Formats: sequence, structure tokens, C-alpha cells
Amino acid sequence: MRQSQLFTKTIKEAPKDEVSVNANLLTRAGFIYKNSAGIYSFLPLGWRVIQKIASIVRQEMNAIGGQEMFMTALHDKHYLQATGRWGVDVVFKVAEAGKKEPTFNLSWTHEEIISEIAAKYINSYKDLPFSVYQIQTKFRNEPRAKSGLLRGREFLMKDLYSFHTSEKNLFEYYDLVAKSYKKIFERCGLASVYTLAAGGDFTLNNTHEFQVLCDAGEDTIYVCEKCGYSENKEITKLEDGVECPKCGGLIKEKKSIEVGNIFPLGTKYSEAFNLKFSDENGVKKYVVMGSYGIGLGRVMATIVEKFYDEKGIIWPKEVAPFQVHLIEIKSSAKKIYEDLIKAGVEVLYDDRDKSAGEKFADADLIGIPIRMVVSEKTLKEDSVEIKERNKKETKLVMLRSLASELEAKLLS
Ligand code: ATP
Ligand code: MG
Repeated sequence: MRQSQLFTKTIKEAPKDEVSVNANLLTRAGFIYKNSAGIYSFLPLGWRVIQKIASIVRQEMNAIGGQEMFMTALHDKHYLQATGRWGVDVVFKVAEAGKKEPTFNLSWTHEEIISEIAAKYINSYKDLPFSVYQIQTKFRNEPRAKSGLLRGREFLMKDLYSFHTSEKNLFEYYDLVAKSYKKIFERCGLASVYTLAAGGDFTLNNTHEFQVLCDAGEDTIYVCEKCGYSENKEITKLEDGVECPKCGGLIKEKKSIEVGNIFPLGTKYSEAFNLKFSDENGVKKYVVMGSYGIGLGRVMATIVEKFYDEKGIIWPKEVAPFQVHLIEIKSSAKKIYEDLIKAGVEVLYDDRDKSAGEKFADADLIGIPIRMVVSEKTLKEDSVEIKERNKKETKLVMLRSLASELEAKLLS
């Protein structure tokens, strides 16, 4: 992509109405636009990051047998009424044309919707287990929408739902999903802590959250320094400095961001939607369910909150909007740009008529992992200057060894 064609531009001043680091940097760098409190549009650069995260999520969900689908965002009230959730306060309600009272709600979660659909197709134990997922918009009337993409009133979620003949089978899959989630966050550059959290009326017992340690987080967790065992403050009796109940190590109190949450649901929803199967003996039983969520925008915001410096964002490789930021200074990098594109490299090519200083400042703010500078000086030596966003040193690389150099950097 030629930067001269990119319709967004970087903004020098911090936006006045944003307090969070993520919203601040993402707005200044041209990744997002705030339409209202907690409601953001993704601009071309931001949408590329979301697509990268979505692609990681899809690969890992498909790898554990998840089948992608897409459910509605507008839900008739009978769904939430069936489980007694129509009155939940974060639900956005909508009135039909000509009616005063709302009879619809905007999707805040999809357990009810998927349970009704699944009841149409599941008859026998032979139809189980299976799992489906979607990446879709959720709406929640969050009272505290001040943390940028960390807490939106409208946000993208990947939600996976699984269906089983027994609790044993559910928990086997639950553990598989937990492993898959760990891998997803790792690929996004995030180390996550698997944390025991509160259950509720709709779960078999406790749930588990994936927490990323971060001072900007709204959650407080207790984590063992030695074995990593962790419990959320909401439910725990642990305190800072006590012994770990699992290994005797030291428990520490930490601030964190919940990037994912998995729920062993049991049969609450299948009971509400008469979702049954006949077992080997022809006995009708309720299907045992699980549900599993990841907020894509929250993951993106968490990455920013973890990886930035005074100059801007520092994207991990797999989620960066582009792999290389190619910058020309008083010379043309057009040929190199075309060669890189041919080689399958994702390049943002700064072909604008701007000073070197402005270009470098923009590159640091946007945060693409590899900066490649072409100037008269480098061309004289048949080379380009390479600098990684998270390192200080620059390095001249001969054009003929550029491909192998990039391969090494992009894969490492
Ligand atoms: P929180 O406790 O942070 O309000 P939650 O427990 O209500 O979140 P879940 O229903 O567990 O949220 O949603 C699954 C995932 O969706 C969360 O782990 C998080 O990544 C994401 N998510 C939830 N609420 C929001 C929000 N308001 N904005 C962005 N992402 C969200
Ligand atoms: Mg949660």
C-alpha cells in the first residue's frame, strides 16, 4: 500500500476526550475513529490488525473442530425471555416500527440463539459432539466505556459454543479450548494467565478467564509466582503474599485485562430450548453445553497497552497491519516496493513528499515491526537501512540479500 493513497493521516495532538493509552495511540496513528463513547469504527490500518487477529482465531478454532457460522444481531425477545435474561441491564433493547415497547434486543451474547438452532438438528448421540463459532458484533450498554477498545458498547467477539452428551465430554473439550486460547494469545504476542473465576446460575461451576497482566487492566487477580496458578479477586480467599494452595509458592496481587472467558454451561440453555438427544438406549437427555468468548478489539487494545513507548505503538509481528514500512528519502524506492510485493511481503510504502523526520515519527507512531529506509546514501551502496521497531540499532543490508534478511526477521 502506498502511504500517499492511505486516506487516514496521523494526528499530532492527543485526542482530548480519550484517557486510555490504547485509544490515544490508535486514534493518533489512524487505526480507529470514535463515533460515540465506547463505539469505534476501524479504519484501514485498524481493520488490517483486526483481520490478522481474526485469522489467528479462525485457524485455531478450526484446528479444534469449530465450524464457522454467522448469527443474527437483532433478537426477538422470546430468546432472552426463555432464560429469564430479558431484564439484564446491559442489554440494548429495540422497538419495532409502530410499537412503543421494545420487543427486540441487539445481540449481547448468543447462547439462546444457538440453542434454538441446534435443537432443530440434534436428535441422537450420533450428532454429538460438535462446536460452532462466529465472529460478530456484540452490543452491551456498559456504564464505564472509558477505556477505549478495552470496553466498548459495541465490539467484535469470537464466540464458540460446544455441544456434548456428558459433562465428562464437555470438560475434555473445555481443556482443549483452553489450550487453543493460550496459543491464540501467544500468537498475538500476549502471555495469558489461566484464572479461576466466578460461575453463575448458567454454569456448572466456576469459569476460567484468560488474563493478561497489565496495570491498565480493570481486573485484579492473584497469581502464583512459581506455578502460575491464579484466581480472580471476585471469588478468591487468596491475598497478596500468601502461600499458593497448589505448590506452596508465593501469591502476588496483579492488575490484569480479561481477554477471554470460557464457561462450562451444563444444561441450563438446553433445558430452556428443549435441546435433547437420545442416548444409546434411546433415553432422551439434555445436551451439555459450553461457551467460549474472546473480544477481538479488546485483544487489539491489550496489545497496544502492553507494547508501546513514548513514540508510539510496537506491534508484534503476527498482528501488525503491515510487515514492512518502506520509507524513501529524496530518492525512489518504487522498484524495491514492487519486488517486495512480488515476494509476498506486506508493505506500507511511504512515498509521500515529507521530511525524513516526519516520516520516521509517523513510522514510530504506527509501529510496523520493520522499518526499511531507502535514500541516496543507501542506494549508493546498493543497500537499504533496516531498523526493527523494538530495537535501537540500524543495519545496512545489501539489496541482493534483502529477501533472506527479511525472511529471518519476519520468522524470528
Ligand atoms: P467484563 O467482565 O470485562 O465486562 P464479561 O465477563 O462480561 O467482560 P464475557 O461475556 O465473558 O465478558 O465476554 C467474552 C469476552 O468478550 C471477554 O473475555 C472480553 O474479551 C470480551 N468483552 C466483553 N465485554 C467487552 C466489552 N465491553 N468491550 C470489548 N470486549 C469485551
Ligand atoms: Mg468474562
